[in-house]
Amino acid sequence: MADPRTVVLPCGSGVPALGQGTWGMGEDPGRRAAEVLALRTGLGLGMTLIDTAEMYGEGAAEEVVAEAVSGRRDEVFLVSKVLPSHADARGVAEACRRSLRRLRTDRIDLYLLHWRGAVPLEETVEAFELLVREGAIRSWGVSNLDVEDLADLPPGAGPQTDQVLYNLSRRGPEHSLLPRCRELSIPVMAYSPVEQGRLLGHPALREVAAAHGATPAQIALAWVLRHEDIIAIPKASSHGHVEENRAAVEVDLSAEDLATLDQAFPPPRSKRPLEML
Ligand code: NAP
Repeated sequence: MADPRTVVLPCGSGVPALGQGTWGMGEDPGRRAAEVLALRTGLGLGMTLIDTAEMYGEGAAEEVVAEAVSGRRDEVFLVSKVLPSHADARGVAEACRRSLRRLRTDRIDLYLLHWRGAVPLEETVEAFELLVREGAIRSWGVSNLDVEDLADLPPGAGPQTDQVLYNLSRRGPEHSLLPRCRELSIPVMAYSPVEQGRLLGHPALREVAAAHGATPAQIALAWVLRHEDIIAIPKASSHGHVEENRAAVEVDLSAEDLATLDQAFPPPRSKRPLEML
């Protein structure tokens, strides 16, 4: 099986274009072992970017991640996020310390502002830069920031990514946000790439999947991954889903497939406000 393509972040770190999400993990003790196995399966298949957040399960998802990466921390590119309510100078430092403790590591590779709140972006960015200097995080980025929000980042600030909702049924970012990120050389990280499963029964997706001998999830992921500079982070809490998702990198969508999908999920004709889940 071919390796997942690598996307190079502005800081020079190469990360796999297909990573793993964790929202919802850690909430049910009865599912924990399966979640750890799913993440470890993904690591073994080269999906070594793991996305988590202090918000997920109020820290419980970070604890699942800690267990999954135990003994193989150096293989993993760990992404976590600070809540906007903790995004002031002191709050960021404290939230990061708590995340490091739960993750049982000494550094987070990429620390994101989960979404924009009341704290000025400049203050959050300064707090991130301090954490970089201290070695607690290797780099920082943002999430759920639209074009206008990116323009409000302090001059010279260099986020490594903007993590946003992007999938076949949420094509709004194609109009302005993806082009803007491309101009700024910021790879986008697409969250909810299978729309939390809601996309998977769509007839057009099923039709394209049948033609490839693939599953609708694989087609939805291959569609997001058709962009060279986009990272997709599907969440799968069963190892079967992880293996299925991993195989999406083998799917090559033809111009005809893309036309079928465009007809069912039309691209945006004008700017739409960025949606979030
Ligand atoms: P998602 O990845 O689009 O969908 C996850 C759901 O799809 C789960 O129910 C999963 O089931 C199912 N699934 C996964 N692979 C499948 C397959 N091959 N076949 C059938 N079903 C499959 O949605 P998401 O969890 O919202 O987004 C992914 C990650 O992005 C999150 O986990 C989180 O890390 C991040 N995220 C970030 C933000 C933000 O504001 N920055 C917001 C949302 C999400 P199982 O779990 O049963 O395998």
